[in-house]
Amino acid sequence: MSRLDSFIRRVTAQRDVLNHISDTVRELPGPVLELGLGNGRTYDHLRERFPDRRIIAFDRASHAYKASTPDPENMIIGEIRETAQSFTGIDAALVHADIGTGYPDQDAITQTWLPQLAAGLLARHGIVASGLALDHPALELLPLPASVKPGRYFLYRRR
Ligand code: SAM
Repeated sequence: MSRLDSFIRRVTAQRDVLNHISDTVRELPGPVLELGLGNGRTYDHLRERFPDRRIIAFDRASHAYKASTPDPENMIIGEIRETAQSFTGIDAALVHADIGTGYPDQDAITQTWLPQLAAGLLARHGIVASGLALDHPALELLPLPASVKPGRYFLYRRR
């Protein structure tokens, strides 16, 4: 598979997963957290799906498309491992984490801290959608929509 094909499948999976969990998330109070703003494409999709929800985005730098850049109070700049710690207990309805790199050694390091962080950010029964698997006893694996191949994206609910 070319990298272009792989990219198309990844962003299609993101869209399908975010659409799949939208109704569930709407029934939960609490903010939405976007870990890895990047270009702001998924942030923009989250805004469209959850127009009345506070959405807080995190990235080590602000380099999103201008119209997809959050207001300063909802844009947290720095290393997520550190900046998101102070949001522990915020009781998020949804955490979306798109911070995989495609480099297994780097992603393995992220997977040492991201599961605990995500679990601490979520409300009870809150949802996390992640490009990386999150192994944590408080996170229960949920089925993906039928269009998404297992292993391409991961969905969990906070117990
Ligand atoms: N979902 C985004 C979109 O649709 O535009 C793309 C996200 S991009 C793949 C990943 C982003 O996460 C990059 O902008 C990168 O700077 C950021 N990132 C990755 N790991 C990070 C970390 N540990 N701390 C802060 N930012 C990080």
